[in-house]
Amino acid sequence: MLSEFDLIKRYFRRARSGHAVLGIGDDCALLAPTPGMQTAVSTDLLIEGRHFFAGADPRMLGHKCLAVNLSDLAAMGAKPVGFTLALSLPGADPEWLEAFSSGMFALADQHDCELIGGDTTRGPLAICITVFGEIAPGHALRRDAARAGHDIWISGTLGDARLALAGYWKEIALDGEALAHAALRMHQPTPRIELGRALAVVPIAHAALDISDGLIGDLGHILEASRVGATLDVDALPAGPALAGQSLALRRRFTLAGGDDYELCFTAPASQREAVIATAAAAGTPVTRVGTIDAQPGLRLVDAAGKSLEMDVQGWDHFSGQ
Ligand code: ADP
Ligand code: MG
Repeated sequence: MLSEFDLIKRYFRRARSGHAVLGIGDDCALLAPTPGMQTAVSTDLLIEGRHFFAGADPRMLGHKCLAVNLSDLAAMGAKPVGFTLALSLPGADPEWLEAFSSGMFALADQHDCELIGGDTTRGPLAICITVFGEIAPGHALRRDAARAGHDIWISGTLGDARLALAGYWKEIALDGEALAHAALRMHQPTPRIELGRALAVVPIAHAALDISDGLIGDLGHILEASRVGATLDVDALPAGPALAGQSLALRRRFTLAGGDDYELCFTAPASQREAVIATAAAAGTPVTRVGTIDAQPGLRLVDAAGKSLEMDVQGWDHFSGQ
């Protein structure tokens, strides 16, 4: 049986990338922030049976736990620096730990983000990661920075993760191939780090967030913080490849109020349209313009012809229903 310290040494302590002055092994890690930069910090807690299925593939889980945290840095426009990992494990299963850590480190290495510490305990499976990033003062893409007249943009596509859930829950019949494609989006989200950083550094975008609980609810956070309203062209929302083959009603519902998308929703002045498109192309991430920020409060949904749509959809909330 592995001891706690053997486990940390074997699976989580690696050759240092040099970002931290002191990494795993002491009471605290030590970071030396780049002079003049601000530190961006974010935490996400994932619990078995609530945020992921019991028995989830450990490699994909390792990726996803870090991806959802990096996605928050992306939404702020910050550059990843390091992260901590707090793990509650039912047991020390070497096969599980090997797969989990390699899925997590594969993504960490892509973004040059170093594991600098954590905590390990026995208990129900739960994973809490805290990420640290850097951003120049005044450049963070904040939720309160949307202004009337701004365009609303979405990166990538929406709704496939929600489609996978519908397939698992048997809400709808999905063939094996569609479910496999959709499930990949659910288990392997891509944090839009390059895009977020590029939009913040110039700066091109004003407000941004990552869509984790469904666009309609998450966009609501920008509208509330910025004290503005919006008009959203529901049929312009980019459906994921698996969802694209489904009915119009389902496409509308799952792009608007899916969940687990981890795409960026951001606003930018109309004068920046070409800059947004060029930046997105350079970052290798497609973007779609889906609406406009209005001075009038509230969210108005319209179809492709500009006709008003009444839809009874809500974002995801852990404390109401579901
Ligand atoms: P403490 O007793 O001060 O809480 P621990 O004994 O829990 O310290 O941890 C020893 C060292 O191992 C610390 O540097 C801590 O940051 C690191 N560590 C513990 N668990 C993990 C983990 N899951 N991933 C990375 N580092 C970890
Ligand atoms: Mg500890």
